[in-house]
Amino acid sequence: MERLIQLLKRIDGKGYKAYKDLVGAYDFVDFTLFIDHVQGDPFAPPSRIRVRVDMERAAFPKELWTTKPRRVGLQDYLSRQVAAQIKNNVGGVRGTGKSGLILIDSGGQEILERTALVIRPQYVEARLSIGLPAFGRKIAGALALKMFTEELPKIIKSSLIYTNVAADEALAFVQLKEDQQFIREELVRRRLVSFIANGSILPRESGVSQKPMKGGAVPFEAPAELTVELNLPNRGLIKGMGIPEGVTLIVGGGYHGKSTLLKAVERGVYDHISGDGREFVITRHDAVKIRAEDGRRIEKVDISPFINNLPFGKNTSAFCTDDASGSTSQAANIIEALEIGTSLLLLDEDTSATNFMIRDARMQALVAKDKEPITPFVDKIRQLYREMGVSTVLVMGGSGDYFDVADLVIMMDEYKPLVVTDKAREIARERPTNRRPEGGPQFGRIKGRVPLRQGFRPGLGGKTKVEAKGLSTIVFGSTAIDLSFLEQLVDASQTRAIADLILYLSRKYVDNQRPLAHLLQAVYDEVEEKGLDVISPFSGRHPGDYAMPRRQEVAGAINRLRTLMVK
Ligand code: ADP
Ligand code: MG
Repeated sequence: MERLIQLLKRIDGKGYKAYKDLVGAYDFVDFTLFIDHVQGDPFAPPSRIRVRVDMERAAFPKELWTTKPRRVGLQDYLSRQVAAQIKNNVGGVRGTGKSGLILIDSGGQEILERTALVIRPQYVEARLSIGLPAFGRKIAGALALKMFTEELPKIIKSSLIYTNVAADEALAFVQLKEDQQFIREELVRRRLVSFIANGSILPRESGVSQKPMKGGAVPFEAPAELTVELNLPNRGLIKGMGIPEGVTLIVGGGYHGKSTLLKAVERGVYDHISGDGREFVITRHDAVKIRAEDGRRIEKVDISPFINNLPFGKNTSAFCTDDASGSTSQAANIIEALEIGTSLLLLDEDTSATNFMIRDARMQALVAKDKEPITPFVDKIRQLYREMGVSTVLVMGGSGDYFDVADLVIMMDEYKPLVVTDKAREIARERPTNRRPEGGPQFGRIKGRVPLRQGFRPGLGGKTKVEAKGLSTIVFGSTAIDLSFLEQLVDASQTRAIADLILYLSRKYVDNQRPLAHLLQAVYDEVEEKGLDVISPFSGRHPGDYAMPRRQEVAGAINRLRTLMVK
């Protein structure tokens, strides 16, 4: 620390480049400070530092971090503590550009595995960004001194040393994460696809916020027929609605909360923080939201289970387009999800292509099958479950044709779910649809596609340019990948991870032999073993701003890459 103080005094008032001398490691009282990377100027992305506290000094009891769910929970909790202490102790921009900022990439409503804070048996390490201060291009040495020797130690002391954090709060956080993990495992054991606890608050504050609705939300209450009791390791007994495997229909009048329920189920692939309202809404981790997405690119996807006989004989067993229609995009989204592996598809009529979902008897009579390329989802939904064990939860307020294929029909009535399966069956018997099933008796096999190396072109003007822009865009070389329709991508740090993961995968694993699902398995195995840091293209500088993406979204991004080529 003395050495750092001397250095800062020496470079005070000099040109910004002199900050480069700071790179190195410094012993502080409570921690070691690593200055790994120094920004080139005050407007550049802030410098990267790490603060490492020996576990002996940090003294977090082993029980808080020795299992994986607990460790991920504690990491997440501590990164939020660091963020809160930054807020308490740092004044924001002071000087030119990003001067004076201290940042940590802590999470939002979800509890995700992140690189911002890591716990190892020997230490706790926070990865921060710091805007090294300057006025104009002149080093503001006194301010830098204050940031490193007053603000930083205060932040770290009050957030990463066990005796200074609220022990009961940390324990509660870790226990919640453990309970969530328990429910996730319990889903599989009980052959459920989703669990929604009684009392959950499903509606959000607004269309652009994931915070819970502020007042007037009707808490969720399971119908008796679907009530499941779970005995959580920490919280004990809770009750809620268990949605069984199979085909589930959510019906009900407009504005009665159908889409809100489905959205909560969709997001239940992630764990949520206490107070979110969806802490105990847990869905199979591999569930995929399927929607129409016209305009997307499709590269040699076998959409023939749904689409055949396109005009002019266009091939649908290796379907390519740069501009998909609503129905072909929705078909491709399903096949791609099956290719990567999923046990649950989630669909909402609001975001589906009508002609993909239904084709009633009257339309069948008017337009002959050989003039209609599309086999609607209603004819395939049961085959998916029977042949591949893939369940579906479908919001459908507009067509009763699905009564014939549903195992369970849930009606949303003023935000309350009711089971109306028997009634729907009775109606189906009394009023047959008179439609003919289409598309044959079998769904067919899913082929794994093999990506080719030459489809990944991260270069631009001789340099590699791979960069995430916010939540839903990845710049990959000279093309941009649009992720705005991947509704289960929730954190911009996941997007950053996906961008670098694709680059890493394309360089290390893509071999023109292995199908996409195998490549992803290989890279996730490596990440599981070595941590998410491995995908970082920078050596010697921490990737402190990744959050773990699901392989479904990574595949989703690869499939939307406009230069993708498959064998
Ligand atoms: P649907 O899909 O049935 O037409 P939505 O799910 O879109 O209905 O919900 C309609 C409105 O009701 C939305 O503004 C939503 O925020 C609100 N809402 C949904 N569930 C609840 C609830 N449990 N309590 C209060 N408001 C809710
Ligand atoms: Mg709706």
